[in-house]
Amino acid sequence: MPPSEFFSHLFCLLLTCNFLAVHSKMLKQFFAIHAQIGTTSSTAVDPLLELGKIAKSNSIWFHVDAAYAGSACICPEYRGYMNGVEEADSFNMNAHKWFLTNFDCSALWVKDRSALIQSLSTNPEYLKNKASQENLVVDYKDWQVPLGRRFRSLKLWMVLRLYGLEKLQAYIRNHIELAKLFEELVAQDKRFEVKTSYQSKLCGMLDQFK
Ligand SMILES: *Cc1c(COP(=O)(O)O)cnc(C)c1O
Repeated sequence: MPPSEFFSHLFCLLLTCNFLAVHSKMLKQFFAIHAQIGTTSSTAVDPLLELGKIAKSNSIWFHVDAAYAGSACICPEYRGYMNGVEEADSFNMNAHKWFLTNFDCSALWVKDRSALIQSLSTNPEYLKNKASQENLVVDYKDWQVPLGRRFRSLKLWMVLRLYGLEKLQAYIRNHIELAKLFEELVAQDKRFEVKTSYQSKLCGMLDQFK
């Protein structure tokens, strides 16, 4: 694990434990803990297992947001970033970010759909139909706020079928190689300082022009 990642991990854990210890009396009022695999600004990865256990022992919904970095987890060498995801009640990644799928296409997994359905389903007379009533179809209108829903799955299906796993993995690995190269080039230039490792999409930050 690169040092920057270790420290972001440690920092997050300490912060979380400290916060939860101080506010443990308030914990019952918390609705959800939201962990990240790849924060937008620095690509930090939260300790999912630890956070998931805190959530579970306090009956709090545990969501894992892997919006852009989740795509990398299709490569076995990056799969470790998801360790602990089994604790999650819900998980999302955006196929439109780093998965070659046209905007927009965000996938959401939920462990127990009944929590969504109990909160969001509507069943007025004019929506009743035989297929729904006989449970022959999944009515996604019951999983979300709007009734209407665009048909996004075909484009994701086409990406999966056209590229296949190996080519998608090669695509991700190539980007990571390019990021390494970029980091090397930045490190050679004295006007720049590398603030976080190549695994961060914000590979180099301009420190100061000398
Ligand atoms: C892009 C991004 C989001 C926003 O995703 P939307 O599906 O557009 O709401 C959330 N979290 C992270 C880490 C992101 O990179």
